[in-house]
Amino acid sequence: MSRPLQAFIDSAALRRNLHRARELAPGCRVMAVIKSDGYGHGLLRVAEALRAADGFGIVRVEDAAAIRDSGYDGQILLLEGMYGADELGEIARVGAVVVLHHEEQLRMLERSPLHAPIRVWLKFDTGMHRIGFRPAEAARLIDRLTRLPGVHLDGAMSHLASADDPSDPSTAEQIACFASIELPPGCSRSLANSAGLVAWPDSRLDWVRPGIMLYGSSPLTGVAATVQGLAPVMRLRSQLIAVRPLKSGEAVGYGEAFRCPEDMMIGVVACGYGDGYPRHVPCGTPVWVDGRRVPLVGKVSMGMLSVDLRAAPQAGVGAPVELWGGHVHVDEIAAAAGTVSYELMCRVSASVPRVEGTGGD
Ligand SMILES: *Cc1c(COP(=O)(O)O)cnc(C)c1O
Repeated sequence: MSRPLQAFIDSAALRRNLHRARELAPGCRVMAVIKSDGYGHGLLRVAEALRAADGFGIVRVEDAAAIRDSGYDGQILLLEGMYGADELGEIARVGAVVVLHHEEQLRMLERSPLHAPIRVWLKFDTGMHRIGFRPAEAARLIDRLTRLPGVHLDGAMSHLASADDPSDPSTAEQIACFASIELPPGCSRSLANSAGLVAWPDSRLDWVRPGIMLYGSSPLTGVAATVQGLAPVMRLRSQLIAVRPLKSGEAVGYGEAFRCPEDMMIGVVACGYGDGYPRHVPCGTPVWVDGRRVPLVGKVSMGMLSVDLRAAPQAGVGAPVELWGGHVHVDEIAAAAGTVSYELMCRVSASVPRVEGTGGD
């Protein structure tokens, strides 16, 4: 038997979450965001499960080619645009749509003779101040694009900085700013990420761009994913590889971060920070072991972590363990680690096999 750590990916849950996104944004086209290897779930597996999406958002032309070659014929949008003029041939071949967010990219288009037509979106900075043109530049940019033969402006987009917090006034300002940009007829608009889609109806427009909600994690701070009708997709599962009786006063693991308050059973799980489990979670972080939630104890090691088995006395070597998934939500672990679920899911090491299904109960 090989090392028992696996990331089960529930494609049916992905489809249900896409359905949920459509329910919440009726009449909008849905661009499923699957950058970073489908948020760590596996690019082509996710693209296959979400074939019913109207488009995919990614950041690598290689990924666009892989999705196209798998038989997908919808829209594929390169969210950061091209990084060099040498990518334009492949972008045209794949029929991907390219975001232009910087003067440099416009110059690439103006200088390189195009051998095939190319479709572009303009990205505007409405307040996030990461990438994008100033809204005041819109007319000038549109004029320049009109002069370029073979270049067609399909859409305009912007990105919300704080939509996860429904009380933050900057989102309404971003929505108003984006609405004030004048665009040629037929040009689509897109602003909403998952949080915008769920909590800001005025941000939905022509295309919504959900990412995190499709993977079953909450886009809103303080509102549980299950309450929003989202099903967990990834279940990170392993087994106990050791169960040991320790004596009162004995310390567990590096730095003696946990000392047994009494004689007790400690279990060791095959999963550590080398696999992508966050090292910084405190003692007490929940781990599901053989039907019970038990507290993690001591420091997480590279390939192992320890748990207090007092609440699961029946669990022996080989007992099933879930680090996150259906019993312990990934959002709980993210909160314990002081990060976001996005990071945890993306960081699951490439050496952890992705397996279709739920991995059982
Ligand atoms: C990643 C990304 C999204 C998806 O955001 P979520 O918060 O995961 O819904 C949408 N738009 C752009 C431009 C992105 O980079």
